[in-house]
Amino acid sequence: MVEFQDVSVTYNSSGVDALNKINLKINDGDFAFVVGPSGAGKSTLIKLVLKEIDATSGTVLVNGFNLKKLRRGKVPALRRTIGVVFQDFRLIPTMTVYENVAFVLRVIDAPAKYIRSRVPYVISLVGLSDKAKCYPTELSGGEQQRVALARALVNDPQLIIADEPTGNIDPALSYEIVELLKSINECGTTILMVTHEHDLVRYFGGRIININKGSIDFDEVVGGAQDES
Ligand code: ADP
Ligand code: ADP
Repeated sequence: MVEFQDVSVTYNSSGVDALNKINLKINDGDFAFVVGPSGAGKSTLIKLVLKEIDATSGTVLVNGFNLKKLRRGKVPALRRTIGVVFQDFRLIPTMTVYENVAFVLRVIDAPAKYIRSRVPYVISLVGLSDKAKCYPTELSGGEQQRVALARALVNDPQLIIADEPTGNIDPALSYEIVELLKSINECGTTILMVTHEHDLVRYFGGRIININKGSIDFDEVVGGAQDES
């Protein structure tokens, strides 16, 4: 669960009010698109959820953590409840698909036996079993993003944040990535997807949170074009 109560962020360096008294609640199991023009405050919102920055005022609650009260030493525990997918994939080029995914579990000292069963399972969920031994450069953009999704999923997070996940891939494959996020959501994981791509949002519909100049000016569930066809 993600909840913002009267959250404001002012960046000291620029004096910019990036968010103004935002109120927002994303329940467990929700799927929401976050849209809005460049500079609206979308990245600031994501950085708050990950506690990469702190709110200037207001309360941010994420997966049972009150982020204002969360000590530095507890930040990794918060982040383990969140999987993140970035626009530029951020895969490790010297590691295979399997190793990129397994790495996440190795750094948290998961048992080897668990890693050996869990990693092939999440790789199969994203449809890449036959590419497990490939290196990222041998994959298409859409496939690389699916690896990034497997990596975000492997630790069974409560929440996945996808920050412009389709920004660097073929428009046709963008739909597949969102379909995949939808199927992950149907298994219970909360998804927050930031996107510029209005066509995608119109096609899928669902909850759309529009941020504009640091305020939420629209937060509603709308029907998608896919539901009409
Ligand atoms: P978006 O992700 O929607 O493009 P951002 O959250 O990145 O928007 O930015 C919101 C506002 O805050 C913009 O005016 C931006 O210039 C400003 N801003 C973002 N990051 C910083 C920073 N680190 N220091 C100063 N100002 C920033
Ligand atoms: P990796 O470097 O392979 O992405 P990490 O060990 O850094 O893996 O992260 C472990 C888990 O924490 C991953 O599921 C990752 O998506 C998640 N995570 C949450 N927040 C962050 C963050 N700000 N930076 C990096 N990983 C994060």
